[in-house]
Order: sequence, then structure tokens, then C-alpha cells
Amino acid sequence: MVLLKKAELKGDVNWRKNRKMNLILLGAPGSGKGTQALKLSDKYKIPHISTGDIFREAIKKKDALSIKVKQIVEEGGLVPDDIVVEIVLRELEQESNSKGFVLDGFPRTLGQAESLDKSFKKHLEVLYIKLEEEEVIKRLSGRRICKKCGKGYHLIFNHPQKENICDSCSGELYQRKDDEELTIKKRLLFYEKHIGDVLSFYEKQGNLFIVEGNKPIGEVFSLLCKAIKE
Ligand code: ADP
Ligand code: ADP
Ligand code: ZN
Repeated sequence: MVLLKKAELKGDVNWRKNRKMNLILLGAPGSGKGTQALKLSDKYKIPHISTGDIFREAIKKKDALSIKVKQIVEEGGLVPDDIVVEIVLRELEQESNSKGFVLDGFPRTLGQAESLDKSFKKHLEVLYIKLEEEEVIKRLSGRRICKKCGKGYHLIFNHPQKENICDSCSGELYQRKDDEELTIKKRLLFYEKHIGDVLSFYEKQGNLFIVEGNKPIGEVFSLLCKAIKE
């Protein structure tokens, strides 16, 4: 946002119209990144890139990537930086002509943030959804996903109109293998180990925005949109 304001000061009146929405969503597993990324993608007409979705898709197809990542993802580990970075850079290249993107689930380590910074020179807006661990566990244990379109639901906070059926495509809902108690704990440990470094990295760059995640979905969305417009 700092850069955009500079553009405005220089008299570039079209900066808002011409700007690219290169958004990164950070937050604990279950903090609402996927839910908000879909809404941002819809509002700003930008593609949603989710590294978790890319891995789950590869595992479903049992392709070459699946062999490398299946066990790690299902056990709640972290895929090695070089594999994730290569995938993300390839995705960003494909989207270079779009109005931007919303990246969800990356970077998860300082190494990933630094690699992205080296190869991707355009301005990024980094939005961190803050949520305490107790709430995160409630979110993850009630999460259900549509088998067909991948849309996320929650048994209590965001349930479908018909039990176990996706509102959008009538697909059947399922629980992610890594949303089981022990795996959740492991994922949270990895998250806690790395998030501080990633946040400091973007804080130093001056493009980090922190948004309160412990609010209803619509309210978190409004806060994110407000942060983007600043
Ligand atoms: P992440 O992508 O960060 O892992 P999700 O977007 O999948 O998180 O959300 C985790 C779970 O919490 C899902 O079941 C989702 O429906 C639910 N959820 C997301 N945002 C909220 C919110 N603001 N309030 C209540 N439940 C939410
Ligand atoms: P969450 O709901 O926990 O935010 P995601 O759907 O983003 O989960 O990711 C699912 C899994 O995919 C992670 O637990 C991890 O194994 C792998 N993964 C996704 N993104 C990354 C990344 N940037 N670095 C390493 N592993 C990743
Ligand atoms: Zn669906």
C-alpha cells in the first residue's frame, strides 16, 4: 500500500484502476484463509492459488507430484521449500496477465518468503488473519469440504443448507484426513515454529496488514477489503 500511495502522490490518478491485486493470505491452519480467498477471488476477479489445494489435487490424481508429497501432507508435515516454491512461481507466471492473484497457504517458512521475494519483483499485499489456537482447533475439527468443487463448510459456523451436501454443486462433503486431532496438533506446531519469521519479514518490508479473524465470515471479509483499499 505504501507504494500505491506514492503513485497517488506522483499524480498517477489511474493507479487504483491499474493496480494489480497481488494478495497473500497468512494465518494458522483453520484461520479462514481458504474461505476468505474464495470471496476475494470472487470480488476482485482474481485467481485463487492454494498450495494445499494443488497438493490435494495431485494426491487425488496420483501424479508425479503426489509421490513426493502424499505422506507429508497427510501426516501434517511441511512439503520441502524447493518443491513448493517451484510450483508457486510456475502458477504466478501463468497468471502474469491477470489482474493479480490471491495466494493462500504460501509462504509458510522464511525460506519460502525469501525465494518468492527474489523471483517475484512486483508489489505484494500481505494480509495476516489473526486467530487464537483454541478457536483454530474448533474451526479445524468441524471443517468439511465439498468432494466435487472444494468449497469449505463448517458443521456449526458455516453449515450447508442440506446436511452433507454442497450448496453450490450438490457434491458430497468430506472431512480432510489431516483435520484429525493428532495431525492438527502437528500442523499447529509447524505453524508456530515459522510464522514469527514470516511476519517479521513482511513487517520489515512495510506491506503487512493484520486482521482480526475471530469474527463472523462476512466481518472478516469487510476488514480484509478495508485493509486492501487503504
Ligand atoms: P484455512 O484455509 O485457513 O485452513 P478455512 O477457510 O478452511 O481455513 O476455514 C476453516 C474452517 O472454519 C472451515 O470449516 C470454515 O467454514 C470455517 N470458518 C472460516 N472462517 C470462519 C469464521 N470467520 N467464523 C467461523 N467459521 C469460519
Ligand atoms: P491449512 O488448512 O492447514 O492452512 P492447506 O490446505 O493450506 O492447510 O495445506 C495442507 C497441507 O499442504 C499442509 O499441511 C502441508 O502439508 C502442505 N502445504 C501447503 N502449503 C505448503 C507450503 N507453503 N509449504 C509446505 N507445505 C505446504
Ligand atoms: Zn461443491
